[in-house]
Amino acid sequence: MPWFKRVEKGIITPTEEKKETPDGLWYKCPECKTVTSMAEHRKSLNTCVKCNHHDRIGSKEYFAILFDDNKFTELDENMTSGDPLNFVDSKPYPERTAATQRKTGLKDAVRTAYGKSGGLDITIACMDFAYIGGSMGSVVGEKIARAIDHARKTRTPFLMISKSGGARMMEAGFSLMQMAKTSAKLALLSEEKLPYISLLTDPTTGGVTASYAMLGDFNIAEPGALIGFAGPRVIKETIGKDLPKGFQSAEFVLEHGFLDFIVDRKELKQRLNDLLGMLVETGDQGGIEAKPERAAKTL
Ligand SMILES: [Zn+2]
Repeated sequence: MPWFKRVEKGIITPTEEKKETPDGLWYKCPECKTVTSMAEHRKSLNTCVKCNHHDRIGSKEYFAILFDDNKFTELDENMTSGDPLNFVDSKPYPERTAATQRKTGLKDAVRTAYGKSGGLDITIACMDFAYIGGSMGSVVGEKIARAIDHARKTRTPFLMISKSGGARMMEAGFSLMQMAKTSAKLALLSEEKLPYISLLTDPTTGGVTASYAMLGDFNIAEPGALIGFAGPRVIKETIGKDLPKGFQSAEFVLEHGFLDFIVDRKELKQRLNDLLGMLVETGDQGGIEAKPERAAKTL
């Protein structure tokens, strides 16, 4: 008789739910090469305990950091992209989509959700770099547009966490249309005096930088994040000059006036809550009233 018997049959655990598997026990910082235990690295929210290098994380981690008790309701959870151009590179686009979905457990490169952060209602859209380089295709644009509509309908602030290599080439022109669509929706959000905070994380480039990522009432970034439109090599070849040190880092972009502030991930939730606390007040009907509107009323 065996020592252990499987009582329940057919237990299948998705890869991302498995404990202690894929990452190993140790983390080596790519910047300063310090080795720490994975547990300690996670405890410091995937930032290096020695040099504060911010490791890339996904929507799952950001939602856990920002939503109170990691409680949130996801919007348009199952939206997936079509193949409008019958695009084939090294493999057909639908095959790539299916393989990426299996590998990452994600449906596309953005997840949108609403819930409470620091007791205040908020709608958050967060991109995932693991899904085809966080590229912006039709689904990314549509989900962000709908999340903005949700924020407008429920009168909640909107936070966008960008992390993207730019437009998705497999959807070509359809990707570029998302820039106009999301920008137009953000204009409506602004008209209704609801705050939009844009958090730029490593990397935020291409069409994402050129549309919603730079349109925040506050544009904030994580330390050391690469932020730009075209890559340094392209720019160097175009202008025929060497680029200054630290070019396209969050710190460089801040110094040149494109960002409001840089926020350490460990302080992100508190800073966000403080900022929103200054911008909004809870209205009588639930949801929020923007303070400028109230000021205008009393004048
Ligand atoms: Zn380090």
